[in-house]
Amino acid sequence: MLDASGKDALAARMTEHSQAPSGDAPLEIFTGSFTQQEAVPPAGISAAMAVLQHGRLHRYNEAEGEIAETALLEEEFAGLVGAEYCLAVASGGYAMATALRACGVEHGDKVLTNAFTLAPVPGAIASVGAVPVFVGVTEGLVIDLDDLAAKADQADVLMLSHMRGHICDMDALMALAKAHNLTVIEDCAHTMGADWAGVPSGRHGVMGCYSCQTYKHVNSGEGGLLVSDDPELMARAIMLSGSYMIYAKHRARPPLEAFEDVKYHTPNISGRMDNLRAAILRPQLADLGTQCARWNERYGVLDAALAGCNRLTRIERPKDEGFVASSYQFLLLDWDADAIRGFVAGCAARGVDLKWFGAPEPVAFTSTYQSWRYAPTDDMPASDRILHGIIDMRLPLTFSLEDCETIARIIRDEVVRAT
Ligand SMILES: *Cc1c(COP(=O)(O)O)cnc(C)c1O
Repeated sequence: MLDASGKDALAARMTEHSQAPSGDAPLEIFTGSFTQQEAVPPAGISAAMAVLQHGRLHRYNEAEGEIAETALLEEEFAGLVGAEYCLAVASGGYAMATALRACGVEHGDKVLTNAFTLAPVPGAIASVGAVPVFVGVTEGLVIDLDDLAAKADQADVLMLSHMRGHICDMDALMALAKAHNLTVIEDCAHTMGADWAGVPSGRHGVMGCYSCQTYKHVNSGEGGLLVSDDPELMARAIMLSGSYMIYAKHRARPPLEAFEDVKYHTPNISGRMDNLRAAILRPQLADLGTQCARWNERYGVLDAALAGCNRLTRIERPKDEGFVASSYQFLLLDWDADAIRGFVAGCAARGVDLKWFGAPEPVAFTSTYQSWRYAPTDDMPASDRILHGIIDMRLPLTFSLEDCETIARIIRDEVVRAT
């Protein structure tokens, strides 16, 4: 939406436009909100009301014969992705930190991760006292497997971030990880519902971490899910999350034997999910497939409408990538910073809210690996060239297909104008 400075910029553009020889039609403006989600579905609202009325919000606070919403959510999510075990937690970031701890990452250890990701990822690594080692990004916006091979021997663990829903060749990545004895944890904050060659995202590594935060694929404000087939890792994760000696109440848990030794050696670092959030999420999980198809419809319209615009670089999607496009990215490769700034401002003045990952200062949710100064790193020129050109936008389901066409027209128009 337009703020005051956006309105001023637009007024200036309108004047300029009407004075230009070709300026007959008024400039098209988009008025939708890039940050407005859909409402929680009615089934989620009534389930939440029931929890509020009975008051048993804590996951271990059950009436006689009752099964907690949180335990049911875990069971349903495990079923959805085909995992043996699932744990619901307070956030995606907490899920990642818990996975790292469960895998034995300790203070001072190095952990490989993507240079193109968001702050909660290196943040989760730093939260356990470990040190992120950044791996480069390709023009397909996935982890650079050559760079990964070159750095693989520096660490035992890779926190693989499927940033903005782009999934690398998981068969090649897992073969590389095996060859270098790397344990893979997946950050699936943007890939809930997605897959690689039919295998759900989050099911290649030893643990998969998902976020239920408002801008992800299901929305409980905050929240996270962690899945694994490994009984010992999941027993540790459940103890870590703050299950005291009540872990038997979990339904998507490993057999009780898995806790026997773990329960004495695992610190309680509370980060449980509550029944209110679980109640809101369960109906959304049931709708996930439908919602993912709706995101991809919007992506398809936008991507097709930008196909003829050869001044920007669209991201090619591999045929094995079953993506869920809740956002859209393209590249302005080798544009200079002023041209990109002018383009982003031009779009903003017309209501199209784009994020530029190459900005020298981190803005809102964007940042680059150089902004995480607690994790100093050598420059990666090949990745810097790509990061400098990444333009990113959200595609909330409150946008209609016509909205996506409007947005594409404005982007095309502004790209032409800026070049
Ligand atoms: C949102 C996000 C997470 C997890 O975030 P929370 O806000 O802690 O749930 C992790 N990785 C990426 C790339 C994200 O965007």
